[in-house]
Amino acid sequence: MRWSKSCIPTLKENPHEAEIPSHRLMLRAGLVKKLTSGIYTFLPLGFRVLKKIERIVREEMDAIGCQEVLMPILHPTDIYEESGRLKSFGPELFKLADSKKRTFALGPTHEEVITMVARDTMRSYRDLPQCMYQILIKFRDEIRPRYGVIRAREFIMKDAYSFHVDDESLDLTYRDMAKAYSKIIERCGLNYRMVEAESGYIGGDESHEFMVLAGNGESEILSCTCGYAVNLERAAARRPPEPEGDGNGKQPYREVETPGMTTVEDVSTFLKVEPAALVKTLLYRSGERDIAVLVPGDREVNDIKLVRVIDDPDIRFLEPREIETLTGGPVGFSGPVGLPGGTVIYADNLIKTYTEMIVGANKADHHLAGVRAGRDFSIDHFEDFVWAREGDLCPLCDKSMTLHSGVEVGHIFKLGSKYSASMNAVFLDEKGESRPYVMGCYGFGVSRMVAAAIEQHHDGDGIIWPETITPFQLLILPVNVNDRKIFETASRFERELEDHGLEVLLDDRDLSPGVKFKDADLIGIPLRLTIGKKLKEGKVELFHRGTHHIEEVPLDRAKATIMERFAV
Ligand code: ATP
Ligand code: MG
Repeated sequence: MRWSKSCIPTLKENPHEAEIPSHRLMLRAGLVKKLTSGIYTFLPLGFRVLKKIERIVREEMDAIGCQEVLMPILHPTDIYEESGRLKSFGPELFKLADSKKRTFALGPTHEEVITMVARDTMRSYRDLPQCMYQILIKFRDEIRPRYGVIRAREFIMKDAYSFHVDDESLDLTYRDMAKAYSKIIERCGLNYRMVEAESGYIGGDESHEFMVLAGNGESEILSCTCGYAVNLERAAARRPPEPEGDGNGKQPYREVETPGMTTVEDVSTFLKVEPAALVKTLLYRSGERDIAVLVPGDREVNDIKLVRVIDDPDIRFLEPREIETLTGGPVGFSGPVGLPGGTVIYADNLIKTYTEMIVGANKADHHLAGVRAGRDFSIDHFEDFVWAREGDLCPLCDKSMTLHSGVEVGHIFKLGSKYSASMNAVFLDEKGESRPYVMGCYGFGVSRMVAAAIEQHHDGDGIIWPETITPFQLLILPVNVNDRKIFETASRFERELEDHGLEVLLDDRDLSPGVKFKDADLIGIPLRLTIGKKLKEGKVELFHRGTHHIEEVPLDRAKATIMERFAV
């Protein structure tokens, strides 16, 4: 392929709208063009990468016996009413009406559609298990589209769904799918972690995400050398027990004056103790209940965990007035000692390691030191409430975990019977009784993967494509297209290597070598054949984009050297 005849609109300048390298480089290397917020055209270079990723995904899905299908993009909204998801999707669902005023949505995901297919076609346990996938555009009106194709409003997803008679059968497919996802990402040449994850609005019992490690990923992960990894949203906070306080429990707690000190920082500095020696008492209202949640002074509550433990998405902080009424003291001085009966006291699991603690005194300008749970107040429930952090212990092997950021490229879920029960999707079991399917669903962000690869593989000059997904395998760069000998040699390499099945881009533009080298680095083809002045001495250069290594090769060896490298 010739560059002069291709639409590869490289840009010299960084577009201001782009905040992270992959977004900048996708625009600058002419891989995509924005139509409007979160909506992009894949131009020829970008499309070639997309197709390669798609091919790898397809091969790995086919290899585990998942069947390819194609479902509609237009969904009547009734199906979301049936599954109960109209509300949970909320504004993310793109809606439109047909000429008869019937409302439709542009498919954000296809659990409903596939469940309707299954209930009409897989009626007996003999028809199960089945697994189906498609590679299709999805539409989600993201509240904040950003980072180019990473969080787009229209994007390409591979989504698969499986139907089973029981959990054991689901387990087998879930495991196959996890292995297939690992293979896909490895074949794309990327470093990743499979992490325990939250299920979000898709719902279900268990889920894992596949995170491509990259400096600017939207997701944070804690991972351990033993192989365990977890999304920070979900990670349990665990640290080595460091008992606070060394009293024998005979000394009563004492009141200390802490004038005007409402923050952990103020109090710990004033009392010359670590912030962790303090325990914060956070007061909430859930329905009719007043709830106190105790957490170490150096930790923050993770709202996702709070909502899950209390099982109330509407839980809220008490207002300052309500705090005064409940505790008798102002905001900033709340504590668990002497709270009115009926207040449910929860504590984070980390509080189990405390023998003594410093807490608010429920009285202005005072704290209590040497307080003991069990003696001075009682904890009703221990749960996991706070954000974990780097250095927290692995739940499997107790080693310290490390924090990484990553781009989520895949998410697999065990759905159980969530959709089949609400949509009355049942099969007849061996005894002739009807039971809802046990289901799994498995998403992979094909277009997001293009950006994830760049986010992991780039340098100051541009993209460095992994060999399996590079838009072209070889870039031929004649430094001067007006030099007949140089250009003829370049064209001969192009023809001969293409005949051997190599994907070659020939930069036949009549531009200065400087501009062409810059563009070459930017678009990041891993191997470049430069044909320049040394041709007179019978030599050409092979440049390796990843290592910047330059190999001088005799003209008559060049073709063989390149072909050996690609084993063609
Ligand atoms: P997120 O938490 O990032 O919003 P999600 O939970 O909504 O993701 P899923 O519904 O599980 O994502 O979608 C499966 C995969 O589709 C994701 O792992 C991701 O790779 C991709 N994906 C999801 N939303 C987008 C988007 N707005 N733009 C591009 N890819 C996306
Ligand atoms: Mg989302």
